[in-house]
Amino acid sequence: MSGELGTIVVVEDDANIADLVDMYLRREGFRVVQATTGEAGLAVIERERPRLAILDIGLPGAIDGLELCRRVRARHALPVIMLTARDGEVDRVLGLELGADDYVTKPFSPRELVARVRAILRRSDGHTSGGRSEVLMAGRVEVDLSRHEARVDGQVVPLASREFQLLAFLAERPGRALSRQQLLDGVWGPGWYGDDRTVDAHVRNLRKKLGDALPLHTVWGMGYRLG
Ligand code: CA
Repeated sequence: MSGELGTIVVVEDDANIADLVDMYLRREGFRVVQATTGEAGLAVIERERPRLAILDIGLPGAIDGLELCRRVRARHALPVIMLTARDGEVDRVLGLELGADDYVTKPFSPRELVARVRAILRRSDGHTSGGRSEVLMAGRVEVDLSRHEARVDGQVVPLASREFQLLAFLAERPGRALSRQQLLDGVWGPGWYGDDRTVDAHVRNLRKKLGDALPLHTVWGMGYRLG
């Protein structure tokens, strides 16, 4: 299960802390890439395009955690959690003013950090600031457009390609009643000659696989509505 929840970059020069955080995140199913300086952190974030970054404020070299946060946030809508050794308000406020999503003060419980990671990812999946969201929420189902993956409670639910396309089409139009013909045109394409039973069969599969995590309603005499 390692890595299925995506990549998290940890920039921390204290190897003990970095390894501890690394271990807990891996156990949760994340892939972790570490860096020990701000410069290396920047490069790793550009290369890996992680889902989230955890940045220690006190880093050796020319780019400390605050500067790293500033630079990263200037370019990406990447969620950031800051680690600070000092309990001072300055670090906290600075961290948040720089656009960090959250912070934890050392010493911290790795479990708490993981809980915050999960909370921030849930939040940012729903509405990524700027740009098109790559992960849509459909009830309790995460519809990951970039990875072509559906997840419930962090677990990937295997879907056939057309099932995923139907799910994504619905998730992009929450609350709208869509006729079977609209779904056929949108998902299978206008050149596809099929009938309503094709749509019904795929909806049945989605319901079977995703269960009550997916609020997919039948609009009688017409089609379907998500949410
Ligand atoms: Ca440090």
